[in-house]
Amino acid sequence: VEDSSSKRKRPNILVTGTPGTGKTTMSTALAEATQLRHINIGDLVKEKNLHDGWDNDLECYIINEDLVCDELENTMEEGGNIVDYHGCDFFPERWFDCVVVLQTDNPVLYDRLFKRGYSESKLSNNIECEIFQVLLEEAKESYPQDRVIALKSDTIEDIDRNVSSLTDWVRNWNSSSQS
Ligand code: ADP
Ligand code: MN
Repeated sequence: VEDSSSKRKRPNILVTGTPGTGKTTMSTALAEATQLRHINIGDLVKEKNLHDGWDNDLECYIINEDLVCDELENTMEEGGNIVDYHGCDFFPERWFDCVVVLQTDNPVLYDRLFKRGYSESKLSNNIECEIFQVLLEEAKESYPQDRVIALKSDTIEDIDRNVSSLTDWVRNWNSSSQS
């Protein structure tokens, strides 16, 4: 039986976590260090209109998951991607060799989201999402446990450490040793 990862020469990494935990900041740095391609799903959805309009209550685009997956299929099959999104349950499991869930201490996260100018309801929704580890649970339910890692993202030092350990992992990754 052919493994779905065996065709790609470089790994695909999913970077997920509550908004504000540092996905885009870390993915940008990791892409620079590894020369992997950074795909910011939020930006892609806006650029290519992969949504079904604006959700007034949640204050975000209603992402069309099927359109997003169709758009990315060939790129993901090719390998060498860092996918950055605050959700992870609708991507095909076979796409990812590693799923990183970023986590941030509540007062720190609150500060970041406040500075972003989030409304009171959007702020409390996201803080609650982080308290209940919604993204970590979603990742564990959607991917094999040994591919999911939770990483702390409170400080710049955390980003540096995470980028350097993930860069090592990418360098050592080799499709033929995957099972
Ligand atoms: P996300 O993409 O998860 O929503 P961002 O990468 O946009 O998060 O980060 C949100 C804000 O928090 C940015 O201003 C960023 O500079 C800051 N930030 C993110 N991660 C860290 C970190 N580990 N330490 C300090 N500041 C961070
Ligand atoms: Mn982001």
